[in-house]
Amino acid sequence: MKKATAIHLAYAIAATHFVCTAVAMAQHHQFYAAAGPRVIIPERPLPLIPGPGGSWSPSSQPYENLLVSTPQEQASSVLFDYTDGPNGPDHWGELNADWSLCKSGAQQSPLAITPTLMITDSTLGDLKANYTSKPVNATISHDGLNLKVDVPSSAGELKIYNVTYRPASFHFHRPSEHRILNYSFPLELHLVHKSEDDRMAVIAWLFVPGSTNNSFLAQFLDELPSHKKPYANLEISPINLPTLEPNYGRYRGSLTTPPCSETVIWTVMLWNFPSVSDYQLKQLKSAMPRKNARPSFPSRGRKFRINHTPNWTLMKQAFKDNTY
Ligand SMILES: [Zn+2]
Repeated sequence: MKKATAIHLAYAIAATHFVCTAVAMAQHHQFYAAAGPRVIIPERPLPLIPGPGGSWSPSSQPYENLLVSTPQEQASSVLFDYTDGPNGPDHWGELNADWSLCKSGAQQSPLAITPTLMITDSTLGDLKANYTSKPVNATISHDGLNLKVDVPSSAGELKIYNVTYRPASFHFHRPSEHRILNYSFPLELHLVHKSEDDRMAVIAWLFVPGSTNNSFLAQFLDELPSHKKPYANLEISPINLPTLEPNYGRYRGSLTTPPCSETVIWTVMLWNFPSVSDYQLKQLKSAMPRKNARPSFPSRGRKFRINHTPNWTLMKQAFKDNTY
């Protein structure tokens, strides 16, 4: 049997273990276009007020004077959400002229990662993400819908083709945006990195259900305020950034929220997936009641390049018995 055929067969067999969830929907927690308003965060929590249906609009904010517009940064009055309605993902590209890539882009994210998209590319090498082993200062923000944790750029670096990206923040999607072999994970964490010239590299970390609390998540989930009001830049105890495993895949894609800019180098961690407990999923669900996963997009000729040949043992272990 040819090698490629064997791999496909192995995937097909493995895929029978997987259960796909319903279509997801999602977000990069900028509820305005990237070229939208710049919000100056006051030191005290910023109480945002949700608009109808949980969407947000500049006009629904009590702190409109905090929105600073320049000719290049016009505040958008258009909302988006994750529903099947007129502001849902199917219509993002029509809601704002600056968001047209959401509809017409050829390199959109997330991807549904299938065996046919995967090619092994040994030139990728090991993941070059070096985070400090010391706890770093962190602040947490909640805009009423989603959580974001900001970390200092000094927390480490991610190198991709000699470009250095530094960590900026991380946030969550529930359920996952990326799917692997038709499997939708209950949770996806995006570690956002930026280069000096403002290029973006995001590491996607997918969680499988587990019986014990995840120690990385516990660092901040246990510090979430009990109240439901939005807040910004709330200081929490210093946290350790995650230790990432060596296997990953990479592709070029986009922001998964408007304006869907196709400027993101994606690194999706593979096979040895971290776990999240039911309790922690409940904590996240309580903080982020609405699902926020954008549906996946066709690859349109893109390949998902993996740095090592799939580790079948780890892969089967990761998916086994997970019937989420
Ligand atoms: Zn994201």
